[in-house]
Amino acid sequence: MRTSRLALAALALLSSAASAQPDPAKVDVTVERIAPGVAVLFGAGGNIGLSYGEDGNIIVDDQFAPLTDKIAAAIATVDPDPVRFVVNTHWHFDHTGGNENFGRRGAVILAHDNVRTRMSTEQLIEALNQKVPASPKGALPVVTFAQGVTLHLNGDTLHVIHVANAHTDGDALVHWQKANVIHMGDTFFHKVSFPFIDLGSGGSVDGMIAAANQALKLANDATRIIPGHGPVASKQELTAYRDMLVDVRTKVAAGIKAKRTLAQIQASAPAARYGMPNGFMKPAAFVESVYKSLTRPKKVAPAAHRH
Ligand SMILES: [Zn+2]
Repeated sequence: MRTSRLALAALALLSSAASAQPDPAKVDVTVERIAPGVAVLFGAGGNIGLSYGEDGNIIVDDQFAPLTDKIAAAIATVDPDPVRFVVNTHWHFDHTGGNENFGRRGAVILAHDNVRTRMSTEQLIEALNQKVPASPKGALPVVTFAQGVTLHLNGDTLHVIHVANAHTDGDALVHWQKANVIHMGDTFFHKVSFPFIDLGSGGSVDGMIAAANQALKLANDATRIIPGHGPVASKQELTAYRDMLVDVRTKVAAGIKAKRTLAQIQASAPAARYGMPNGFMKPAAFVESVYKSLTRPKKVAPAAHRH
């Protein structure tokens, strides 16, 4: 039922944020165990990483609020303990929608500084012309970090690593050192769509490439890589994705240098050979985001100030 899940996720992303709540009756939350002590939950919205074992459950992202009961039930099939920590890979509502529910049930929410900053005020996702209201206090991360944080739980070491200006300005990768797993959040869209680069939230194509390179440095041929959307990937598949980003960026940059317009560059179809014509991000929209990422003036003011 992968197709219907994806259609639903795309629909949720495209309709207005406040009403973009999936009907739990229409969503299956499924579990895939990918390494000792690590599982992935698929439902609607961003893929959830789960660390389980003697110290309790830690989840990476939590999809949408109406799905919390189904997500908790799916987690309980792996480990009946409550969720102790939620790590958000970035602020988008299809990854943080369950925060308030899991927080109320006792979880501590961790994320990059800019996730809390953006969730604290109304946001506009420019590319979708979509306003996202400020989140209630109970949904906000209570532990935030600038560069990263490390969790020592379940016999493993989980490095949460900030990658700058990639999908947004608050992305984090999560690396299970012992289990050899990396959750990449939305810096990686695998097979289901071209990636969405949220330029209005501080994303950039060069940051997306840097994030993929950082994950590749941590990976070997046995690493299981959880994308924000799509099936679990290998290092080889992440490499192909990184190469796609570099190829399209190179072609768009050459077009800009040759003083071609966006429409002319889109007409040359620099992303066409990668297929995925019907994903949530169409090839032309992806090319537009790369073009805008390379031509827009750099913003000076950071989203968060540290004291
Ligand atoms: Zn996202």
